[in-house]
This record gives sequence, structure tokens and C-alpha cells, in this order.
Amino acid sequence: MIATHTMPLEAATPAYICPFDQACSYLEAAAKELRLDQGVLEILSHPRKVVTVAIPVKLDNGEIRVLAGHRVQHSDILGPYKGGIRYHPAVTLREVSALAMLMTWKCALLGIPYGGAKGGIAIDPQHYSVGELERITRRYTSELIKDIGPSLDIPAPDMGTSAREMAWMMDTYSVNVGHAVPGVVTGKPLSVGGSLGREKATGRGTMIIVREALADQGKTLEGIRVVIQGFGNVGGAAAELLHQAGAKVIAVSTTTGGVYSPDGLDIPALKAYAAKNHHNLIDFPHTRAITNAELLTLPCDVLIPAALENQITEENVHQVQAQIIAEAANGPITLEANRVLEARGVTVLPDILANAGGVVVSYLEWVQGLSYLFWDEERVNRELESLMVQAYRQVIQQSKVRQVPLRLAAYTLGVGRVAQALNDRGLYP
Ligand code: GLU
Repeated sequence: MIATHTMPLEAATPAYICPFDQACSYLEAAAKELRLDQGVLEILSHPRKVVTVAIPVKLDNGEIRVLAGHRVQHSDILGPYKGGIRYHPAVTLREVSALAMLMTWKCALLGIPYGGAKGGIAIDPQHYSVGELERITRRYTSELIKDIGPSLDIPAPDMGTSAREMAWMMDTYSVNVGHAVPGVVTGKPLSVGGSLGREKATGRGTMIIVREALADQGKTLEGIRVVIQGFGNVGGAAAELLHQAGAKVIAVSTTTGGVYSPDGLDIPALKAYAAKNHHNLIDFPHTRAITNAELLTLPCDVLIPAALENQITEENVHQVQAQIIAEAANGPITLEANRVLEARGVTVLPDILANAGGVVVSYLEWVQGLSYLFWDEERVNRELESLMVQAYRQVIQQSKVRQVPLRLAAYTLGVGRVAQALNDRGLYP
């Protein structure tokens, strides 16, 4: 596999599926389809900059702990680096590198002028107090001060982070440079230049892509049975918007398990229940409790994995019953499972398309900030809708022209645009 020599290896177990190797495999397939030059493939296989910083933090009990914070900048060929900051125990440098690469293709596919990056710290934010999280976020930001900036690298929320962390990052950066710089992050609170519609943007984007895929099969969302793994920022918003649009969301889950009702869940009531019960869904009235593994195999029309990577694998892919799968998470299907699904003719709406709504509205937030002119939510949603539908149509068209599945079609578009720009810019010196 390409590019491993610049990447420190974490301890690998036999069952370990390396997310960076998977990302490189998809890149290689796209490069082959596009007949890209081997040298261009080499360049695109390597993140341009990999940063790991030590984050010493004083815990509330006085103990000092040193955490590792990563930021991987994959490519800035099309514009500033862009991508979220993940706080999750499973964060590794390889995972962050894979996710940074996905951001490059995602931004290119959506036609937004950004490169790709990702950051992360391997912590479970639930095990830290708000004060500790603030100290961690601020120290991480200040360690990266020379590597981020509104025209250099623009972080955003990802799993385990939210507008709150973005406000801390924006404040730390601003205090260090001596003036307010709202454009250094996106996904900020509205009070400091955030955009209306940003919070639900990823879920809304997923809903739009699912709706378009159904329309191509002559169907509407009305009565469609949807199963969603995850009920956080992405899965929760997707559930709400799909429910509003008339779909029957029959199962959702969080890390502690899920609930199932073949007649459809009352999503607004379930949201309120989860908020009251520390995000626990079990025992929600008139539902059956299910495990996350069981959820993926439920009979349904549309399955939306909106949590972690590698959820649909060689082991469980044969039990998956959905005919449409929308990857609201990044990389929820392994390479092997993807092959099986494609061979079975399942419509897999790939992550770089299906979860692009977040970075699209991040871009709209950045544009509003740079122009000092803020839009109403309707306008934000309208622009999001237009960019998502356009990208969806391009992927379908590409899939027909090249006779390839949707993932490869999406990759050839994203990778092809970056390769074209690389070619036009030329190699320095
Ligand atoms: N973390 C989100 C993603 O993976 C959003 C990134 C952004 O808005 O920059 O697409």
C-alpha cells in the first residue's frame, strides 16, 4: 500500500482494518479509472503535512496528563485546508489521515474551494469536565497556532466536538494574534459569526441525497422505512428531517443501544426523551430495545450509518437488508463489504457525497463571515440544497458514463478535479 512510510504505525491487531489503507485503495481505484499518472497518484497519496502535538493538561483533581493532538493536512491544491476536529477514544493518526484525505475529495466533489484536513485527540469527552475540555481545546489550539488560520486551515466540529469547542478555538486563536478572527473556524455559535442551518446541515444533506436517490427510483420519502445508526448531531438531525418529510424512521441507536418500532418512531418525542435520559434511548415507550449490531440488519428500505467507521463488514454484510445505504458517517462500510454490496446491486450513497452537507454549510458560514453579510436560514438551506443536488446529479451522470458504482463515480469526480488543478498549477520548483 502506498504512503505508509511517512505514517507512524499504531499497533495493529489481526482484525485491525486500517482506515488510511482503505482510503488509499479507493484513491488507487479512482486513479486507475482516470488513468492518472503514477507520480500524481504518489502526490495525492501523501498528506502534505502531519502534525502531532503534546497537550499537557491539569485535571480538576490537580493531576497533570499529557494528551496527543493530531492535525493532518492532506491537500491544499484547491484552497485552504478544511476539516473537523474529532474527540473520540478510537482516534489514531492513521484514522485522522484517512479522514483528511476524504475531506479533500469531498470538498472537490461539492465544488467548494477547499483542500482537506482533519484533527483529533484520543479522548472520551464524557470522561472530562467542561473546564478540562476547555483547557485541552485551548492548549491544542495554541500548539497549532501557526498551522491554522482563515486562509490556511479552518477547523470545524466533528464527532465529540461542537460549536462550544469552536468558540474556544476561535477565542484562543484571536487572543494569540491580537484581534478577533471569526473565520479561523466554522460551526461556531451564532453569537460569534456562526451560520443559521449549520448544526443540522450534515443531516439535511443526507436527507436530500436519500430523497434524490429515491426519486430516481420513482419513489418519494413518504412511508419509506429508514434505520439510522447514531442519534447525535448527524443521525439525530437526519432522523428529524426524514420524519418531517414523511419517512417512517423505524430504528435509531446511540452507543448504548437502540430502539425499534416497525410502525415508526415518534422522533420529536424520542429526541426529548434522549435529552432527559443522558442520551439513553432504551425503555422509550412502545419500542423494542435492540443492539447496534442488530440494528444494521433490520428489514428496511434505507439504512443510514451515522456513527463510526467499519460498521458494515465482511461478517455482517450478508445480513444487511436495505436496498439503499447512505453513508452519513465517514467510512462506515469496509472495502470488502462494499464489494459485496455493489455486487448485490445495493445503492450505496458514498460518504463524500452523503455527509457533505456539513462542510457545505461550513463554507457558506465562511463566505458570510468574509463578506460581513449574514443570511436567513432559508437562504442557507436553499444554497445547501442546490449544491447537494448538483453534486448528486454529477455523480449519477458520471456513474452512467463510466459504468461504475456511485462510490467510484464520486471518487473519480473529486480526485479528477484535484488532479486537474495539480496539473494546471504545476509542480514547484
Ligand atoms: N466534520 C465534518 C465532515 O467530516 C465537517 C467538516 C467541516 O465543516 O469542515 O465533513
